[in-house]
Amino acid sequence: MARKFNFSAGPAALPEAVLAQAQEELLDWHGNGLSIMEMSHRSDEFVSVASQAEQDLRDLLSIPDNYKVLFLQGGATSQFSFLPLNLLGDRNSADYINTGVWSKKAIAEAQRYCQVNIAATTESERFFCAPEQAQLQLDPNAAYVHYTSNETIGGVEFDYIPQTGDVPLVVDMSSNILSSALDVSKFGVIYAGAQKNIGPAGLTVVIIRDDLLGKAQAMTPTMMNYAVHAKADSMNNTPPTFGWYLAGLVFQWLKQQGGVEAMAQTNARKASKLYAAIDSSDFYANPVALRNRSRMNVPFTLADAALDSVFLEESKAAGLLNLEGHRSVGGMRASIYNAVPEAAVDALVQFMAEFERRHG
Ligand code: PMP
Repeated sequence: MARKFNFSAGPAALPEAVLAQAQEELLDWHGNGLSIMEMSHRSDEFVSVASQAEQDLRDLLSIPDNYKVLFLQGGATSQFSFLPLNLLGDRNSADYINTGVWSKKAIAEAQRYCQVNIAATTESERFFCAPEQAQLQLDPNAAYVHYTSNETIGGVEFDYIPQTGDVPLVVDMSSNILSSALDVSKFGVIYAGAQKNIGPAGLTVVIIRDDLLGKAQAMTPTMMNYAVHAKADSMNNTPPTFGWYLAGLVFQWLKQQGGVEAMAQTNARKASKLYAAIDSSDFYANPVALRNRSRMNVPFTLADAALDSVFLEESKAAGLLNLEGHRSVGGMRASIYNAVPEAAVDALVQFMAEFERRHG
């Protein structure tokens, strides 16, 4: 078996140790004679797996007791679609910060339900940066403020948590959750699709302050109502059991690595090595403002776009997979989430230097 280095933006690399454990436990989970996938979600065995995963996530992010953690289906896209239904209450507007593709999609969904105020947008700067706090035009009557902490396609990451006074802050943290320590108490809602830093696709994690539950519009479908999920411990219907289990293994792996503080250090080192390689050459370029360069998704272009396909072919042959940029922007993108080892970044940096020598 030769596992290669996987730079996919998502579904993304998982820790090899986690995959090996899942493989070992796959046919017979803990001597029960069946797979975790074949068990009732209401069995004592699965409930213990589910609650351990929640506890481990609470430990990793120091989630305060007045927050519920939900393990749902539907991906981040479903969350930004249900959010307005759940959070508007008696308000009729919400503030959104627009930093790129994922913010825009969230805005388009919210516009179905309420007036959306664009509190700031960096569209005129081609989304190569995030707005600064002083640029945010926040409405104190907004139901909530929404932003995307890391734009997975543009490679733009906020370097601060917006201050929104008494208005709840809602964040799509799909592509940088668990990449560093977090003060959860600054947020009303944090949501993230699992398939980057949490586990396999099919699971979505929502962390919600409990005073924000119970405001859903009457027309909200049951499965889109956070209060229903909170009351039922995410088991109002059959939850994504295998994803939840696997996320639990990832959380344990993260604890073994030293938690999110240790991940933050490794992530900073990985990102700075890769950006240094890009910046030290005229052959590679990344357009993002230094303070907003994502530590998770590093897009870069080659001086000659005609070489893109050669770069992709040769990198693949060298065991470096999934470096193609998003179809909307082209170029390259290396996603270097928690589970992508530093050795992968070292190998990529070395490959890039060799490629430039041969083709530059
Ligand atoms: N938000 C962000 C920041 C993302 O990166 C993605 C997926 N790439 C999504 C939302 C959509 O996630 P999903 O496919 O789970 O709906």
